[in-house]
Amino acid sequence: MAKKKDEESGSEAIATKHSVRCRYCGQKNAVKENYKNNSANCGKCKLPLSNEPHKKWADLSKHEYIHPADSKALAALRAIPGIDTALKKLLEVTGESAIRVTFMASAVKVTPKQCPDLYAKLMIACSTLGVAAPDLYIQQNPIVNAFTGGVEKPIIVLHSALLERLNEEETLAVIAHEVGHIHSEHVLYLTAAQLILAIATIPLASLPIAAILKELLTATMRGALLAWMRRAELSCDRAALLVVQDPHVVGRTMMKLAGGTFASKINYDLFLEQAREFQKNYDVSRLDKFWADIINAGLSHPFPIWRVSEILKWVESGEYDEVMKKA
Ligand SMILES: [Zn+2]
Ligand SMILES: [Zn+2]
Repeated sequence: MAKKKDEESGSEAIATKHSVRCRYCGQKNAVKENYKNNSANCGKCKLPLSNEPHKKWADLSKHEYIHPADSKALAALRAIPGIDTALKKLLEVTGESAIRVTFMASAVKVTPKQCPDLYAKLMIACSTLGVAAPDLYIQQNPIVNAFTGGVEKPIIVLHSALLERLNEEETLAVIAHEVGHIHSEHVLYLTAAQLILAIATIPLASLPIAAILKELLTATMRGALLAWMRRAELSCDRAALLVVQDPHVVGRTMMKLAGGTFASKINYDLFLEQAREFQKNYDVSRLDKFWADIINAGLSHPFPIWRVSEILKWVESGEYDEVMKKA
């Protein structure tokens, strides 16, 4: 009798005796009698099943979470005379249709039938932040990375190496980061910045687009775009946290980005310690110099330790909790 009573009082609206409604995607899942939180995964989105609530925002403003360094760098970028005209011209030449055709032809499009668990994760990120769903693609690529591009209609591309390395929650974190770029209205500037980075690599440097880019965007414009791009990452890591709602999922994702194939052997607590150590020695001007070198080397997401340190700071400042309360 006591056991039965216990079971009844332990059940909530989302969990009946032998079924649990997925807190992320809403799918009802049959579970075994001895089911415990996080001991099974949802059949639809593949995320761990749990009775914990998952919050969503009806009308989340980007200003609730945009990193101040992002706003500042974006203001500096927008203050450059002629930048908007130059970017408009550049994107007219490179064109959204070209971007879409490239991925339609070379990458796998995620749909409710193709990789349905990834599609479900995209829907979770979009419904949590309040963003219209973009197209999502998977591209065979050994570099652990993801990106968002486009002009009017954004697309998100996940590299195969990223999916091979991350667990289900970390994959949601990466998709949510990319959806964050759309929610933060980064896409136009981000596309231009990615074009600059792509052209910095040798195989593309000889293409006509490289000459057009150099003709349309001055060195000042290019530098300001890349400097902003690093800081834009900080806002979207926050967006990722708002979707996964666990700072350590974001932290572990960064650890895998930093540690590559050795990530399974890396101690997460020591990694956090390293992030806190970084925070203590943080020096904006030195970081800027380092950025310039990294950009010259053609890397795009180079600061996992710094990004983790920023996420920890946001959580510890209480600002994250403030945004969560509004969900
Ligand atoms: Zn689910
Ligand atoms: Zn990003």
